[in-house]
Amino acid sequence: MKIFAIGLNYASHKEEMKSVFVSEEPVIFMKPDTALLKNGQPFFLPDFSNEIHYETEIVIKINRLGKNIAERFAHRYYQEITVGIDFTARDLQRRLKQQGMPWEIAKSFDNSAPVGSFVSKDKFPDMQNIDFHLDINGKTVQKGNTAAMIFSVDKIIAYISKFFTLKIGDLIFTGTPAGIGPVAINDHLEGYIGDEKLLDFRIK
Ligand code: MG
Repeated sequence: MKIFAIGLNYASHKEEMKSVFVSEEPVIFMKPDTALLKNGQPFFLPDFSNEIHYETEIVIKINRLGKNIAERFAHRYYQEITVGIDFTARDLQRRLKQQGMPWEIAKSFDNSAPVGSFVSKDKFPDMQNIDFHLDINGKTVQKGNTAAMIFSVDKIIAYISKFFTLKIGDLIFTGTPAGIGPVAINDHLEGYIGDEKLLDFRIK
């Protein structure tokens, strides 16, 4: 399986990153399957970074094989969603960006993609109006609503599938709103869609 992630898909996050980047198309990057962290397993802080940031994101799971999917049919290619964390080694990313280098080691390292339990999208009348948030140690640190996405889920699927065949089980992290920040040892992370907790794990 493949994991796609979308960069800079919320204006509020672009602002906090001081990004002036403007694109007519989504920014895509990938994480390997070894980035996946499931079932509430702990995340161990890696020794190559002193600045691991959480980015809370809605994650969708592809359930049909598809290539060159038209935007109007994209909704047929996923049935389940959850909340996940796009862990980012911000110190490495900053250095790589300055050097004009690819981001992989800052974004795609082992366990950099924790995902919660998946739920049917049928619970939500409008994919582009879903509240989600992250609590750390019982306090809400990041909140978003999919209405604020620059590129909708269906646009993202259409765009990715021009270049990559989507397969059953592939995941798409759809971007983070404002409010990213660092994690520290012993932090307890809990991710919610609406008021339903789908993600629950600890930093070790
Ligand atoms: Mg992200």
